[in-house]
Amino acid sequence: MLDIWIADALVLTAVVGMPISTILRMRPRLLPGEGLTFPDWQIAEEKYRRRYIFRLVCFRILPAILAIYFGYRLFTWPPDVRADGPDIPTFYRALFAAFVFAMVVSSVLRIRQERAFVKEHPQFADSVLPVRPRVMAIVPILLSFGCIIASMSFHDLTLVTTLFLLGLVGIIVSRKLQVRSITRSRHELSWDEPLGARIAEVLQQFGYTPKKLILMPSMVTNAYALVDGSVLVTSALRTLVSKDEVAGVVAHELSHSRDGEGKKLQRVRLALTLPFLLLQIPFLVLFLGTSAEPFLPPFLSFAIVSVLLIPAMLFGRYSRRLEFKCDRDAAKVGLGLSLASCLTKITAFMGNPRRWIGLDKYILTHPSLDERVAALEKAHAMFLQRQEG
Ligand SMILES: [Zn+2]
Repeated sequence: MLDIWIADALVLTAVVGMPISTILRMRPRLLPGEGLTFPDWQIAEEKYRRRYIFRLVCFRILPAILAIYFGYRLFTWPPDVRADGPDIPTFYRALFAAFVFAMVVSSVLRIRQERAFVKEHPQFADSVLPVRPRVMAIVPILLSFGCIIASMSFHDLTLVTTLFLLGLVGIIVSRKLQVRSITRSRHELSWDEPLGARIAEVLQQFGYTPKKLILMPSMVTNAYALVDGSVLVTSALRTLVSKDEVAGVVAHELSHSRDGEGKKLQRVRLALTLPFLLLQIPFLVLFLGTSAEPFLPPFLSFAIVSVLLIPAMLFGRYSRRLEFKCDRDAAKVGLGLSLASCLTKITAFMGNPRRWIGLDKYILTHPSLDERVAALEKAHAMFLQRQEG
């Protein structure tokens, strides 16, 4: 028989271990610039395959089996003997503590990692975001998540529901605040020449100007269309790739921004995920305060991880379709090949593989590099045909 205490400890370990291992793995590894090379794709692929199998076993197969096991125990537990294990409030207090600990440790690790990287590669010096805006960015989200987790540390269902909903509202509000703090940031970098002129050209070619165009100091090589319609490019991306490649990415993001997709994606994700999160409530109603209560934390934790696969797959499908659409739009203004080479560099820099395998093909929000490059090459050929015609 599997002990409830062991199962709870497994959940807490995952909550602490996952963000920390992600930070440790996501260190930049490509050395850009003259005479420097990409890491070996084959090595990246092999590492990814190993990680994938680990994730599949630990975060898909095992939770599903454990959810079924603890669900069975929960429903068949005799009403007169109390199960041996922590009750709901104790477990969720521990979960909240584990969550805060994981966030603090991963933030410290990330800052140290970035500082070490910049020492070796000073061209990335302006990509280190100061500590204050970093803290300001995570505190509201931490509080809202904390509200959701802490909501479960009471024995009263009305209090649980109220705090849970408050946490959800908090997440929405804090995302808005985050966007506001980014768009009004005093740390924004200037689009200096020749990048400024090149980007102005793209805006003209594309025939659309976003609410705001932001160059933000960040070590993550990426670009985003924010929910308010602004387009953001990180300084690490600008340092890593050529100005034409930045132009390709900006064209892709302009397509997201023009079609209001920052907001759309956020709404679709929430609408898909929320019903699955609310599935917990009937179990709380049935078992809170009963002799079987100690089975609830492991059952709910493993069951949530298992069922969230469904909204993840639906959202992934929706998001990947939009990604292809934005890539095609970038190709329509002649930037298909620039975008393809930019994506290749980003993928290598982050140590990601060229192809997804297994479940990743269905749950990831972006198509694999190989798929995107193939589609971009095709779209670029069509662009050339149109030019000639
Ligand atoms: Zn995109």
